[in-house]
Amino acid sequence: MELKEHIIIGGAEWCAFPNLNIPAIKARVDSGAKTSSIHASNIQKINKKGEKWVSFEVHPIQDTRRITLRCEAKVIAQRIVKSSSGISEKRYVIQSLMKIGNYQWSIELTLANRDSMGFCMLLGREAMENRVFVDPANSFLLGNYSEEKIDELYQHIKDIRSGLRIGVLASNPKLYSNQRIMEAGKERGHEMIFLNVDQCYMKLDSTNPEVRYRGGSSLNNLDAIIPRIKPNLTFYSCALIRQFDSLGIFCANSWESISKSRDKLYSSQLFSQNGIQIPITGFAKSPLDTSDLINMVKGAPLVIKLLEGTQGKGVVLAENTKAAESVINAFKSLHANILVQEFIKEAAGKDIRCFVIDGKVVASIQREAVKGEFRANLHQGGKASVIKITAEEKKLAVKAAKVLGLHIAGVDIIRSNRGPLVLEVNSSPGLEGIEKATGKDIAALMITSIERQLGWQRELIIRLPENEIILQETH
Ligand code: ADP
Repeated sequence: MELKEHIIIGGAEWCAFPNLNIPAIKARVDSGAKTSSIHASNIQKINKKGEKWVSFEVHPIQDTRRITLRCEAKVIAQRIVKSSSGISEKRYVIQSLMKIGNYQWSIELTLANRDSMGFCMLLGREAMENRVFVDPANSFLLGNYSEEKIDELYQHIKDIRSGLRIGVLASNPKLYSNQRIMEAGKERGHEMIFLNVDQCYMKLDSTNPEVRYRGGSSLNNLDAIIPRIKPNLTFYSCALIRQFDSLGIFCANSWESISKSRDKLYSSQLFSQNGIQIPITGFAKSPLDTSDLINMVKGAPLVIKLLEGTQGKGVVLAENTKAAESVINAFKSLHANILVQEFIKEAAGKDIRCFVIDGKVVASIQREAVKGEFRANLHQGGKASVIKITAEEKKLAVKAAKVLGLHIAGVDIIRSNRGPLVLEVNSSPGLEGIEKATGKDIAALMITSIERQLGWQRELIIRLPENEIILQETH
């Protein structure tokens, strides 16, 4: 190895990928990573004369999604890569000529659709081997670009169709799910607006109805709303969603479907009326009928659920009749609405969460309760793992979401001796457990569902330097 053959690069450098039509992209030099990666979104497999290719989008300029490039490359492999957060994901590997300063050589790149630690590109060890030395204390040793130069390099590329204006109607902007939905929408070129339920207010007026946000700005010009509603805000949020709906703004889940899903008794009635199997369930207002209620659900052990409970908080297992009677009567004396339900012992503390979008199960996980606990909720310490569900379970999940009218739903299923049973359907299903366990980009699927419902298609026009125009339509 002769030192003179090596070039010295800093901790970050500008690169170009002529074959991918990328004139400039900032690479973070990451000698801790073996392979290099590029942050790609909307990755689609394509077949080119029998060869496997991928088409993907890149936002080459960090911190701005102003510029979107659609690139195509031949797939040379698929590889399991462990990301910095420890999640393994299967990635496409492509090969491309990389230019850096006055040098160029061919490197392998994995297409990272999520984890790039905020960088557009990471340059790993393999691509640097026997060619470069890194001087981590410095950056852009092979040249830096001014903002004007970047504009010049990218002036031939213009996104002619602007994105949608999508409001995420929720409470906590820091929640993983809300962050992911915001991120996925921006990634696809939409304007994402976080709307705190508490800060929205409305004007009911037959000629000029409105929804406004704290400070007085109008929300009437949104294209769509993604409701992510906390249970205790269901009433007000549903009123807001009704108002948005009357303004012609598309809501990812309607207010009717949300309020049905939030009422465990009503949704259980809808399930049984529509032939959807659920655990045998009893409900009574008066404490006088407690013992017959217990008999109706085949006696103890049985499960008692607060009608308004979530995340397993209001769910109690009564091991014997005496315990059942006392818990039921105690709840009733507090005027709490409760359901009494047959205990599905054979489920052994496991349940299945199916994430349904537009009539399709897009991901499913099994949740398993910690030892000594029967509730599988992740909030109760349950562990998530990937599971392949049966065709019958898929059908059941899709039907349960349909009966409530939900476009987006988390359907909880429990496996019993008499087949799968629906436990409940959640209209604001969490993304963290299911995305982390399956590695799937569920947030992006939620955004594409909205695009589909609104008939929106992304159009990118790319003017090459020679004035050749390529119009690309992507879905
Ligand atoms: P929540 O809406 O609070 O999550 P669920 O009805 O989904 O309430 O119940 C929470 C958990 O308790 C379920 O995920 C499941 O693991 C367990 N569970 C609920 N009902 C039953 C039942 N009838 N038999 C056995 N386990 C149950």
